[in-house]
Amino acid sequence: MSAAVSLAPKTRSEICPACGTPAQQARQAWKFVNARGETEWLRCPSCQSYFMDGEYRLENEIAHTQQMTWGDTEHGAQLNQFKQRMYRAILDRIHALVPQQGARLLDVGCAYGGFMTAAKESGFDVTGFDIVPEAVGHVNKSGMKAQCCAHVSEFSLMKEPFDVITVLDANIYWPDQPAELREIHSRLKPGGLLVMRIVDKSWLASIGAALQQVSPAKGEKILRRAVNDHRFSMPVGSFLNLLHKTGFKVISASPRGAVHSDQTSLAVKLSFGLGIALWHTLGLFLAPGAVVIAEKDATHSRGSLREPGA
Ligand SMILES: [Zn+2]
Repeated sequence: MSAAVSLAPKTRSEICPACGTPAQQARQAWKFVNARGETEWLRCPSCQSYFMDGEYRLENEIAHTQQMTWGDTEHGAQLNQFKQRMYRAILDRIHALVPQQGARLLDVGCAYGGFMTAAKESGFDVTGFDIVPEAVGHVNKSGMKAQCCAHVSEFSLMKEPFDVITVLDANIYWPDQPAELREIHSRLKPGGLLVMRIVDKSWLASIGAALQQVSPAKGEKILRRAVNDHRFSMPVGSFLNLLHKTGFKVISASPRGAVHSDQTSLAVKLSFGLGIALWHTLGLFLAPGAVVIAEKDATHSRGSLREPGA
């Protein structure tokens, strides 16, 4: 843990990374030790997200990712195999909406190119970017184009508007989610798709924070499971509102298709099963994650959000 401690942020956050509200308005939520060392977490009064208090420094983020399973050279590529079930489920959904061959797809936070490979094989013209140089090198070596950069605005390998932009398990590391979503919106064709796998265990974080008051060790254990090494934890409902404000029309949002692997543990699969049932019947989000598909609304009309599971 000693190496991780030195990467912990020293300066305070200026904004809630999930919705952009000034961080002075946030209240303290908890303090704990996880893969990033000891960090303090705040809760945003505007979007109800929990977020790590600390300035975003790209060099720290790269160093942190390199020491995580998905960022190191040996295991990063192996994860590509593990996540095939999720890739297939997501590609099936995209193909139903974007049937043409050769459509342009940008994968944000492409890591070792697992989803890019699957998308290319299914007929997309793919590019991607990631902050980890070794991951980008791996993708380039396997014959696909990727760039080492941190923000959609910096991506320069393809200037033309995209048919599809995918963000799979990557937004939770963004320092300013509204800014990234605006940039994604501007780089999509009218009617183009934003496809995201998001994580929402904010409900579990609330349980952990409450439990920490009475049983610190048990509370921390739950908090570590709830936030992993993420920088924020945002309720799905708040996320869908943010998409709407940015000019996206939400086509679907569901835990269905968000299970990573056939080898995912039974406990996690069960919590997805229960989560899917609760979301589609009561609109209650208690699953570990969800797949969200949204369309660039060319008209920018701001109608009401669709029903959960629409
Ligand atoms: Zn917020």
